[in-house]
Amino acid sequence: MYSPSIQKLIEQFSKLPTVGPRTAARFAFYLIGKSKSEIDELVLAISNVKKNVKCCRLCFNVYESEKEICGICSDTRRDNSLLCVVANETDLASIEKIKTFKGRYFVLGAPLSSLRREPTDTERIMELEKRVSHNKALKEIVLAINPTPDGQAAILYLERMLKPAGVKITRLGLGLPFGGELEYADEETLSSALNGRK
Ligand SMILES: [Zn+2]
Repeated sequence: MYSPSIQKLIEQFSKLPTVGPRTAARFAFYLIGKSKSEIDELVLAISNVKKNVKCCRLCFNVYESEKEICGICSDTRRDNSLLCVVANETDLASIEKIKTFKGRYFVLGAPLSSLRREPTDTERIMELEKRVSHNKALKEIVLAINPTPDGQAAILYLERMLKPAGVKITRLGLGLPFGGELEYADEETLSSALNGRK
């Protein structure tokens, strides 16, 4: 077994998404070989992220500024009639990167697998329902969710939840590989999936 300090670090890394014990051990030994200043820099980066990054109360995306809401929500040039629902912040970032979508966002922030079982009315979903039914300008909700089995189930669930609002609901068009991860799709594929939504 490893010494207690190494063991503790491996345990911490193992809690990170997609990191198993072997990768966690690799991270730990990588850090052991680093200088004190490099370690200080890493520790500072982690602590700054916690100190500076806020969650937008409108779209639930993360942002960093003195403002009350994020840059996208406070941008008056964006289209209030379009709302793009994404699973997480990284999917939002992927869509923003292709610069095609000019509407608003809503980040679900929950694992998609939790949406397939009812009742799973998380606070966030209830907020989305409220937002949709109170927004008179809204004309279309784009469910930009990964076409994985969990994602498909989440899409069906959200469609059922949001249908009473009477707003057009679309999904990303073909082009995304089935079971593919949105954040790994290249920009061209994502762009055509967004343009081909139906
Ligand atoms: Zn926002």
